[in-house]
Amino acid sequence: MQISTRSLVQSRPLNSPEAALAKSMIEASRLPDGYEAQLQTDMTAFPKRWLERFKENDVSVAVLKDDQTLADTPILHSLQEEQISEIVSKGKPLVEQAVEEIYGPLRGQPDEDYQKYQAAGLLQEKIHDLSNTTNLGFTAEVSREPLDLRYLGEKLGFDPEYDPESFERWKSAFSDINSGLGQIQEGMFKPKDGIYVVPYLMYRGKTARALSLPSYQQFKGLDFQNNLGGNYPENRLVILHDSVVPNPSPRAGNHRVALHELGHMLDWICKELPETKDTHEQKVNDLYKLGMQRSSLITDRARDSAGEMMAEAVEAYLTTEEPGNFYKPENHRENLQKSFPELYTYVDYLINL
Ligand SMILES: [Zn+2]
Repeated sequence: MQISTRSLVQSRPLNSPEAALAKSMIEASRLPDGYEAQLQTDMTAFPKRWLERFKENDVSVAVLKDDQTLADTPILHSLQEEQISEIVSKGKPLVEQAVEEIYGPLRGQPDEDYQKYQAAGLLQEKIHDLSNTTNLGFTAEVSREPLDLRYLGEKLGFDPEYDPESFERWKSAFSDINSGLGQIQEGMFKPKDGIYVVPYLMYRGKTARALSLPSYQQFKGLDFQNNLGGNYPENRLVILHDSVVPNPSPRAGNHRVALHELGHMLDWICKELPETKDTHEQKVNDLYKLGMQRSSLITDRARDSAGEMMAEAVEAYLTTEEPGNFYKPENHRENLQKSFPELYTYVDYLINL
């Protein structure tokens, strides 16, 4: 694919420090040739200081294909050996303490088994809370039946046939963290208290924290087919559908969705920047009100909310008019300056901070 700088007010070459910063934020796999380079080029429309701010804030720009979730990008790191040891060494006492707290008072009661059965859900919840707050990411499962570890391992993504080493390492972590919760005999785990812990699992060749995998899998490429992109400032995450990356893209023409989504991120970061944190929200709300009253907002999207106005304005500020553009052709710097000078001036101030 040809890399294009069409519609960008400025950009940097791929060997520039700016492009390197951009690359370090991109999370994508199996993209066609040139896609990553195009996205890097688009991102360098931002001045270096803003790329650095994105980096300092741990912003990731993930690109998803229809059949991918966030878990299929390099954003999901395989667990290191030390992290696995940490899950077991720190997780085990936490789990045993939780078991003692919930099940301790029930021991010796005439209907102990029944009461434990009733309290298993509560214990599971408590263990998940502990796992979450410590970031260890193990999970607890309720089961009274003996478990075949080979079968359980396969269910959790391991392949005892083709990758026996990973499976054995997991089995030993499992045995260790569960040693107070039951007994292992001939590859079977017999839960003593109707609960067991999954220290971690395997997802498509990567070991992963069991508790966090579903949150990565929530972000599905298919969901971005209509929206083209998304922005999750609390997670410092921007997601783009792969179809919007080429320039022109079949979906969004020369409109640069990456700049719109990073515009949301810039807006968010301005709420915390020392220079703007006390005034930014008020300023943006005032501009939005003014823009709506005077019909100065240049796209439908910008009229949706103050936040969308800012994202569109950042994209407009960083792009030029492009003849023949079919998607939001009106959203470019010159038009922003002409139609809404107050917003232009404010974005100009922010971009150059
Ligand atoms: Zn938006």
